[in-house]
Amino acid sequence: MPESVLREVQDEMLCLPGAGASLLEISHRDKLFVEILHDAENTLRSLLGVSDDYGVLFMQGGATLQFSAIAANLLRGTGKRAEYLLTGSWGKKAISEAKKEGEAVAIYDAKETNYDRLPGASDYTVSDDAAYLYYCSNETIQGVQFQNEPECPASVPLVSDASSDFLCRPLPVDKYGLLYACAQKNAGPAGVTVVVMRKDLIEKADPSIPGYLYYKNHLDNDSEWNTPPTFAIYVLGKVARWLRDDIGGLAEMEKINREKSSSLYKIIDESGGFYRGHANVECRSLMNVTFNLPSDELTAKFISEAGANRLAALKGHRSVGGIRASIYNAMPREGVDALGQFMADFLSRNG
Ligand code: PLP
Repeated sequence: MPESVLREVQDEMLCLPGAGASLLEISHRDKLFVEILHDAENTLRSLLGVSDDYGVLFMQGGATLQFSAIAANLLRGTGKRAEYLLTGSWGKKAISEAKKEGEAVAIYDAKETNYDRLPGASDYTVSDDAAYLYYCSNETIQGVQFQNEPECPASVPLVSDASSDFLCRPLPVDKYGLLYACAQKNAGPAGVTVVVMRKDLIEKADPSIPGYLYYKNHLDNDSEWNTPPTFAIYVLGKVARWLRDDIGGLAEMEKINREKSSSLYKIIDESGGFYRGHANVECRSLMNVTFNLPSDELTAKFISEAGANRLAALKGHRSVGGIRASIYNAMPREGVDALGQFMADFLSRNG
């Protein structure tokens, strides 16, 4: 979380300006909270350039609920099949939930190379009448990130799980039928998930699906069909303002993210094979830098010594092993530099 946002939240925690009470004490129907919700939506819309053809929804249930919601709204009862590009762990989880709602097939799956790469346009074919094409723009565990949207016929809605790279760079929203992101990486605290969705697709869903999953309920009620996660939305609005006003927008954020991530990839590339990046070079993530060391012993030593240097949360997921440095938007340049220095020093002592 950006430090300035944390400080603002701290200042306003006891008494929200204008409210005479804490945000945690006022109703979600209170005019002040409704203004906060609208402001968060409008700031996101301006940051991303979202047109009126799209709804912006604030939902609960994390990104995981969207695995089901997407298939319930866009697949169930259509007689069509949904097509998935599987490039890592989260895409696999998403397809397994979609299969409960209808026919969902993987038209690309990088499992044979342990999800170290992304498909080129010639590696898969999307059916013209698919219910949608689903992909995950940044696979958090493997550290592989699409540089551009995958090829998709105009007749097929493109759906993206943007949970771990939302707001890290500009996004051509009009290429998407739907994109969503849990907030807890780049956009705010856990508890709210942003769904950006073409309104005409919302209208097509079957109203008999469970009410919370039915996007139209959230759209028609301004994300207040039931009680929304008020605190998370309030902080998300502040993070969006920080991005717009302090950072200067998403193009500027991307520049910073490129500088931060490339400083670590440079150390990996120049380590003479001591550090081995998991993701192929052309699809390396701006957010999750994944790499392995020559042995499990050295990996354990790296993590332990890094911890002693106040560099935390570096252990890679067990399916990839090694190290994962998550350097989301709020990670300051100094934090990345400290890790880079530690990596260089560790290499000189153990390489
Ligand atoms: N999708 C991606 C890309 C993620 O990184 C995560 C969590 O890390 C999820 C989905 C699941 O999110 P949640 O825990 O909010 O359901």
